Amino acid sequence: AKAGGGNKFQIYTPDMYSNSHKKLFMENALRKSIENNELLLEYQPQVDAKTRQLVGVEALVRWNHPKLGVVSPAEFIPLSEETGFIIPLGEWVLKEACYQNKRWQDAGYPPVKVSVNLSSKQFSQENLADEVNKILEETGLAPEFLDLEITESMMMDVNHSIQVLNELYALGIQISIDDFGTGYSSLNYLKRFSIHRLKIDRTFVQDITNSSKDASIVETIITMAHNLGLGVIAEGVELEEQLEFLVSKNCDEFQGYYISKPLSAYKFEQMFLKNS
Ligand code: C2E
Ligand code: CA
Ligand code: CA
Ligand code: CA
Repeated sequence: AKAGGGNKFQIYTPDMYSNSHKKLFMENALRKSIENNELLLEYQPQVDAKTRQLVGVEALVRWNHPKLGVVSPAEFIPLSEETGFIIPLGEWVLKEACYQNKRWQDAGYPPVKVSVNLSSKQFSQENLADEVNKILEETGLAPEFLDLEITESMMMDVNHSIQVLNELYALGIQISIDDFGTGYSSLNYLKRFSIHRLKIDRTFVQDITNSSKDASIVETIITMAHNLGLGVIAEGVELEEQLEFLVSKNCDEFQGYYISKPLSAYKFEQMFLKNS
């Protein structure tokens, strides 16, 4: 690169060296994470905004490596996307989340939906609907209790997206648009997508009580969703005042630290299922 004022050589600082070294280390370690049982899911409750009843739970993946410690998905999901490892990883997450939800139902707890994040590589997979169907059959979870979260940025290829969403919809599962409002919003296509709900991004929710602009955006998303026959869930709710605003605008569901941070399956069961 010549960006540095005519300098012919790319200069690698020790920092860059260790970064790329770390990346390579992580790539290799990640590949063994499934067989080494280092992946786990945490669960964050989703509750009805009016009744505060538990209605769902989002499964969030974590990687607990013996040397690296607990690595955030913000770090290893993009890396997995790059290397293609996201396909087996995504399959593991989906299977584990469905199994866990089925086990809770079999234990007699009131059934709730489990929301699973899909990555863009998974969404562009040819046989996604077949894969999802196979996992539902294998785990015995009824399709209505699975919710797939996809983001707007995955749906740039509109015709392909319409087809995939139709196939998923036909399975009887639910579909939510995650981080709604932050991506490339194509409102024009929203009406053509077979989906069930919009999930309002945390960045809007965090300022609803002190930014009238964010408040109007959130209010508008809720009204639009309802007019299109869609549900709305707000993420990242941390404060009572945020919840009050959302309830006053008829938001259907919410999740966030106000109710709970993501929990281990065991803690989620103790704290949310045992007394629901
Ligand atoms: P996301 O789907 O937007 O998930 C919400 C993130 O916000 C989670 O971070 C969650 O722990 C955090 N969060 C929840 N409530 C609050 C709150 O009240 N305040 C604040 N400040 N944060 C809150 P996490 O678990 O670190 O996940 C980060 C991202 O990694 C997720 O963002 C999602 O895009 C991705 N991810 C997580 N699990 C998976 C997975 O299994 N597959 C794929 N493809 N992506 C995943
Ligand atoms: Ca999500
Ligand atoms: Ca989200
Ligand atoms: Ca988000």
